[in-house]
Amino acid sequence: MTTVQGTLSRSLIGGSWTDGHGEMMHVRSGWSGTPITDIATCTEADVRHAVQVAEAAQPAWAALALVDRVEILRELNRVIAANTEEIAQMITLETGKTISETREEILEYSAPAYQKAAEEALRHRGLSLPSTQERSNNKRLVLTHRPVGVVAVISPYNFPTDIASIGIAHALAVGNTVVWKPSEWTPVSCAMVAALFAEAGVPDGVLNLIQGKGETGAALVRDPGVDAIFFTGSTATGERIAREAGLKKTLLELGGDGPQIVLADADVEAAVDGAMLGCFYLAGQVCTSAERILVHESVHDEFVSLLSARMATLRVGDPTDEATEMGPLCNEGTLARVRAHVQDARDRGAEVRQFGEEDGLFYPPTLLVGVTPDMEIARAETFGPVAPVIKVASTEEAVAIANSSELGLTASVYTRDLATAWRVGEALQHGTVNINESTNYWDQLAPFGGTGKSGNARELSQWFFGTFTETKLLNFDLNDQPRGDRRVMRQA
Ligand code: NAD
Repeated sequence: MTTVQGTLSRSLIGGSWTDGHGEMMHVRSGWSGTPITDIATCTEADVRHAVQVAEAAQPAWAALALVDRVEILRELNRVIAANTEEIAQMITLETGKTISETREEILEYSAPAYQKAAEEALRHRGLSLPSTQERSNNKRLVLTHRPVGVVAVISPYNFPTDIASIGIAHALAVGNTVVWKPSEWTPVSCAMVAALFAEAGVPDGVLNLIQGKGETGAALVRDPGVDAIFFTGSTATGERIAREAGLKKTLLELGGDGPQIVLADADVEAAVDGAMLGCFYLAGQVCTSAERILVHESVHDEFVSLLSARMATLRVGDPTDEATEMGPLCNEGTLARVRAHVQDARDRGAEVRQFGEEDGLFYPPTLLVGVTPDMEIARAETFGPVAPVIKVASTEEAVAIANSSELGLTASVYTRDLATAWRVGEALQHGTVNINESTNYWDQLAPFGGTGKSGNARELSQWFFGTFTETKLLNFDLNDQPRGDRRVMRQA
């Protein structure tokens, strides 16, 4: 791989590729050690400039006929999909995601996000309300939506182009402009996506890309021209943003601590399939990963034995190889946290079974048996390829442990009994509960988000629009008949 040069190592502001005025960011592939490029990061002044450019471009973008905006978004779907291979290879280099995972990210999620947002905008309807304040037939109350203005999109490393794309697509679809700060671990793949906007016919200044680390993101959050913030990342960063954002609208999608509950009557093989996907897809670096597996004592040994056998066959290795099922972790910080959680569990008495050796950022699939709810691995997000099994004696105990976390993103429960599934589904305090399905299952047109410290709203399809639009009420008086008695107002 040759070093990336030119535009992909720069920021994109107002249609021009430009260098920031901050410190240099040395981008290299953590897992292979390959240098990728050096990027001059954006300072507070660079961020100000990008936001001003987005503000200036917004009225014309919002004034474009909806069908024209929609056509441009559909074109984005086509051009991003056509560049799948190049972008997927870059994400794999930057993060260590396997090539099959990164191709899936572009073709299944990132590119179609623009098409889906376009279709959603076509169906974003208003409302006509009855008049209740006045005894007349003169009033017409119409609820409409208008774009908020400039949306900041701040994205994480694990689905770098997908998560950013769903936010950008829906923000643009309803007439906002965007300033996007991608993860410092994935600046080049994100620049590749940003570079395609001009090709799809997006006017200059409608999407702006600013490169940098946390300080650049913080400057964007503080910027007075930003009207709404779509952030996806860790709970710690999300809480910082919530404090800084003041009265700006925020949509915060944060960490998860997904419980997978396996009850006494479960289809144990299906539950093992769910745990494999939940614990080892993307080496466990998914917000909806199965972070705690709560297994009823009557099926515990069978579950552990089947899971162990499956883990032994998992193909771990070079993420560019199509046969590889699990690649490395993205960075040292993630590796350090995974190691610390496993060590804490070992120190407190859990049995640790590892299928392979640690090698750089490659962490072996790890099964922990005898985990208890007080261990760090059961209390905080680990974000690595670990299956921590907690034995439980009853459904009630499983639900109580599942609900004891501050994080409430996605949960799953395996049972053959409909009433139990329903009751447990209702009792779990999570944003999504999957029945007889992995924690990692989600639907792109269904509301997604968490409770507690997992987030503050719902995203995807129409649920984005609560953050990306302002609701406006237009009250008309037709003024062609005598004014009515405003009884209700006088009483108030
Ligand atoms: P992170 O919080 O370290 O970084 C996310 C982004 O925030 C990056 O672009 C980073 O530069 C930026 N940032 C850092 N400090 C900032 C600040 N003070 N102000 C503004 N921006 C700042 O997260 P990560 O390690 O990239 O991603 C992993 C985390 O994201 C996990 O916790 C995972 O669960 C979570 N996540 C959640 C969802 C979801 O939908 N709930 C989806 C994917 C990932």
